Amino acid sequence: MIELRTGALEEAADALVIGVGADRDWDDSGRWLATRMGDWLTGYLDAADFTGKEGELLTVPGAGLVPQGCVVLVGLGSSIDAEGLRRAAGSAGRALMRAGSAATTLGSRLADGHAAVASGFLLGQYSFQKHRSQPKPSKTESLRLIGAGEADLAQAERARVVAGAVAKARDLVNEPSVNKPPEFLAGVARDIGNRTGVRVNVYEKEELAAGGFGGILGVNAGATHPARLVEMWYEPAGARAFLAIVGKGIVFDSGGLSLKPAEAMETMKTDMAGAAATLAAVEAIATLQIPVKVLAITPLTENMPGGSALRPGDVLKARNGKTIEVLNTDAEGRLVLADGLSLAAEAGPDLIVDLATLTGACTIALGEEIAGLFGTGDAPEKVRRAAEVAGERVWPMPLPADYRKKMDSDVADMKNTGPRPGGAINAALLLKEFVGDIPWAHLDIAGPARAAEAGHYVAKGATGFGVRTLVALAEALATGA
Ligand code: MN
Ligand code: MN
Repeated sequence: MIELRTGALEEAADALVIGVGADRDWDDSGRWLATRMGDWLTGYLDAADFTGKEGELLTVPGAGLVPQGCVVLVGLGSSIDAEGLRRAAGSAGRALMRAGSAATTLGSRLADGHAAVASGFLLGQYSFQKHRSQPKPSKTESLRLIGAGEADLAQAERARVVAGAVAKARDLVNEPSVNKPPEFLAGVARDIGNRTGVRVNVYEKEELAAGGFGGILGVNAGATHPARLVEMWYEPAGARAFLAIVGKGIVFDSGGLSLKPAEAMETMKTDMAGAAATLAAVEAIATLQIPVKVLAITPLTENMPGGSALRPGDVLKARNGKTIEVLNTDAEGRLVLADGLSLAAEAGPDLIVDLATLTGACTIALGEEIAGLFGTGDAPEKVRRAAEVAGERVWPMPLPADYRKKMDSDVADMKNTGPRPGGAINAALLLKEFVGDIPWAHLDIAGPARAAEAGHYVAKGATGFGVRTLVALAEALATGA
């Protein structure tokens, strides 16, 4: 675990990270460096054409001119905000996986900047090494936040808890599906419960049948591993609000009998990213003792085309009694969420938020880096503000009531498919059938749950998207926002 502490420019370290604004705009530490290094520094900057644009990174050997082995310069561009610092620190963190000790002045660029820097650096150092025969994890043991006071360090420690939760979500999503059947993820939830005091209740197949969870059982019908539904209760004394979180947990999505083409299956271990973010966020919220009551629900199953699999044309009855005609078994997320959302609504929370890798249509609408945000009442706006604070990208989408009739079924209350145009909206409209009148926000994270390539604090593969927004949402609710 990387130790976070304060420090000084004159202390020895393997690496020193300094931010540079547009057109080589130096802060005090940059001027200190320029004085120490003189022409040596200018030569490097000119040779690399480094001007301080956002995203630029240049490593300059210390050459005995400074107490650090090397200096990493990161471009900050012309307007500096918390997300800019997080990204700059993330780029530095990725570049310094081999450095034992690092120090940085980045946090002094902004009021409350040190927590953002710690967050970005720690997230940037993430890599998934578990299945390498010769793992190369980060060697970094300490990060000195130069200029940080005690309050800054306390905030940085909170950021570390959240970054740890993001890493956990990434690990769970990156893990191959063969290693994470529903019962395994239920075990992860129980472990979190043991560590934090969060109460964990796991519905096994018999309880799901007795409780009328027809959606999850329908999707589970073609799978070998039995489904689970995990319910986690965090109930701190003096809770200021009651938040329910529902995360889609399809541990592998083959499409079922409506089988996906081979290429589309390559990343389908990611289809439990909503559940992973939910479990990890609950751990962070409980560890940070945020005074909000939380009910987290993760319906967990594989979607497989076994001999007893759900058939196109079958009708399922969800937990709230509504019936769904399944015309495409690859539209399974909405079926398990129907049960999960129904159960969440029964508890009467102030707000329900769900996270789901739900539709490819959402990535067509918004690209792979922005989540679609849908919902009712003031819930979407609350989630939008939390995402903004957290530095996760979401965009509001409409829920036009007249589109709902496109999902009318000939034999049931609704069918699980709609027309191709507006696919992300159609899916969200179906989810709305299961939340009652409770303010609800739905994040379609089919795009941002994975990154096609590494960049700033994001590693290639699982991103842990949603964890930071959920923690920020809980913090906002705790302050009455
Ligand atoms: Mn599917
Ligand atoms: Mn799916």
